[in-house]
Amino acid sequence: PSEEYENLRRRIFSNTKELWYFVNHELTKLSKGDIKVDKVQGLLEQVAHRKSFILSDQQKLPELDGYQDWRQLEAANVSDLVQRRLKYLQNPSDCRDARKVICNLNKGCGFGCQLHHIVYCLIFAYATERTLILNSKGWRYNTKGWEYVFHPISESCVSAYDDKVVQWPANYDPKVVSLPFIDSISQKPKFLPLAVPSDLAHRIVRFNGDPSSWWIGQMLKYILKPRPAMQRAINETIAKMHFKRPIVGIHIRRTDKVGTEAAFHSIDEYMVHVKQYYDQLELTQPVDARRVYLASDDANVLGDARTKYPDYEFLGDPSIAKTAATHRRYTPVSLTGLLVDLHMLAMCDYIVCTFSSQVGRVAYEMMQTNRVDASDSFYSLDDIYYFGGQNAHNRRAIMDHSPQEAHEIAFQVGDLIGVAGNHWNGFGRGTNKRTNMNGLIPWYKTADHLVLYPFPEYKQVSN
Ligand code: GDP
Repeated sequence: PSEEYENLRRRIFSNTKELWYFVNHELTKLSKGDIKVDKVQGLLEQVAHRKSFILSDQQKLPELDGYQDWRQLEAANVSDLVQRRLKYLQNPSDCRDARKVICNLNKGCGFGCQLHHIVYCLIFAYATERTLILNSKGWRYNTKGWEYVFHPISESCVSAYDDKVVQWPANYDPKVVSLPFIDSISQKPKFLPLAVPSDLAHRIVRFNGDPSSWWIGQMLKYILKPRPAMQRAINETIAKMHFKRPIVGIHIRRTDKVGTEAAFHSIDEYMVHVKQYYDQLELTQPVDARRVYLASDDANVLGDARTKYPDYEFLGDPSIAKTAATHRRYTPVSLTGLLVDLHMLAMCDYIVCTFSSQVGRVAYEMMQTNRVDASDSFYSLDDIYYFGGQNAHNRRAIMDHSPQEAHEIAFQVGDLIGVAGNHWNGFGRGTNKRTNMNGLIPWYKTADHLVLYPFPEYKQVSN
C-alpha cells in the first residue's frame, strides 16, 4: 500500500479516538452541570464536523488502496455477464420449444410498482430457466403495449403459441406458467428478493456494499431500454436542465401517498441531508454551486424550495411534477416526465428520498447500475431499502447484547434478527428469530445477512 494510504488509515484511527475524547469530555462536563444548555447546539456542530471529516477520509480509502481499477473492471464484467445471461434466456434458439413464464402488466399501480412487478417476473424467469413473455396489451401508460415505448424484452420470443397456460403454482411442472402478483403468493420461493445468486455473490460483495439492490438494478438495466422516440424525448428535456456535478438529487413523494402509505416530510427534512452532503464534500474540494435536482409529483415543491433555499441552485421541471400530480398520471406524457426524473436522480452523486416510495427505490436501483457502488450514496427519510413482497430481511448479531433500556431485546452472537426498520437514532426494530422477542436493537451490533440462492449458472454463456 502507498504511503498516502497508510497515513490516511492511521489518521482515521486517531481521529475516531479524538472524537471520543471530545464527546467524553463534553458529556462529563454536562453531567456535572458545568455547561449551559445553549452551548449544546455548538457542541453538536463540532461533533458533526469531526464525524464528517472521519467519513470523508474513509471514503477516500478505496480510492487509494490500489484496487479501485480492479473494482471498476470487476463491476463491469459481472454486470455484462448478467446481461448476457438474460439475453440468452430471453432469446432461446427454439422459441416454440422453450419453457416460458407469462407476466401480465395489468397491475393497477404506478410505474415504479409496475417496473418492480416485471423485475419479480424476470427473477422468476432466471431462477426457473423460463423465457419471460410480457403481456402488456392495454397497458395503462400505452394501451398498445410496453413494446411501443421500450425495446421488447425479447427479440425473438414473444408468444406462448398455443401451449396451455397454467397459473403458477401448479401441482406439476407445466411448460408455460403465468404468474400471480408477488403480494398474493402464499409460499414464497426462496429465490425472490433480497436473495442473490450464489455463483455471483462472492464477486459482487467485493465491489458493492448492497448486492441485493445491485442484482435488482441489473434486472432494471435489462428491462428499461427506451425506444429511439422515447429516448429522444428524454434527452431533449434533460438537455434543457444544465446538469452538472456535483449534484444531489431529492425525491419528494406527495399527493396520494401522503397520509395513506407514507408521512408528510417538509422540504427542510430533505435539505438537512443535502447540506450535510455538501458540508462534507467541501472539506476536501471546492464546490462551485450547491446544485440540487428536485423530482416530485407535487408541482409546488420546486418553487417553494427555490424561495426557501436561495443559496442552492435547484434543477427540475415543474411541468413534469404537474403532469404527474394530475389525474392524467398514467399517460405517455407523464411517463416521459417520470423517466426523466428517474434518469436524473440516478445520475446524481447522492440522493435524499423516502424508500417507502417505489420511485425512490427505483432511482437507487438505477444508481447501483450507474456506478461501482452506490450503497452509501443515499439517505432515506423513512424505510430501509426493501423490495415489495420480499422474503424476510434479517440481520445477524455480531456481538452479544443485553437490554440497557426498556423496549430493547437481548441477542447473542449469531442470532438472526428479522428487521422491520431503522429508527436512524442508533436503534432499529426487529424480532430475534431464536427467542421470538420483538423490540429495539442497537444497529451497530448487527450486520446485514445476505441470502444466497443457487440460481442456475447458465454455463452456456461464457464467463
Ligand atoms: P409509489 O406510489 O411512490 O410507491 O410509486 P409508484 O410508481 O407505484 O406510483 C407513483 C407514481 O406517482 C409514479 O408512477 C409517477 O406517475 C408519480 N410520481 C411519483 N414521484 C414522481 C416524481 O418524482 N416525478 C414524476 N414525474 N412522477 C412521480
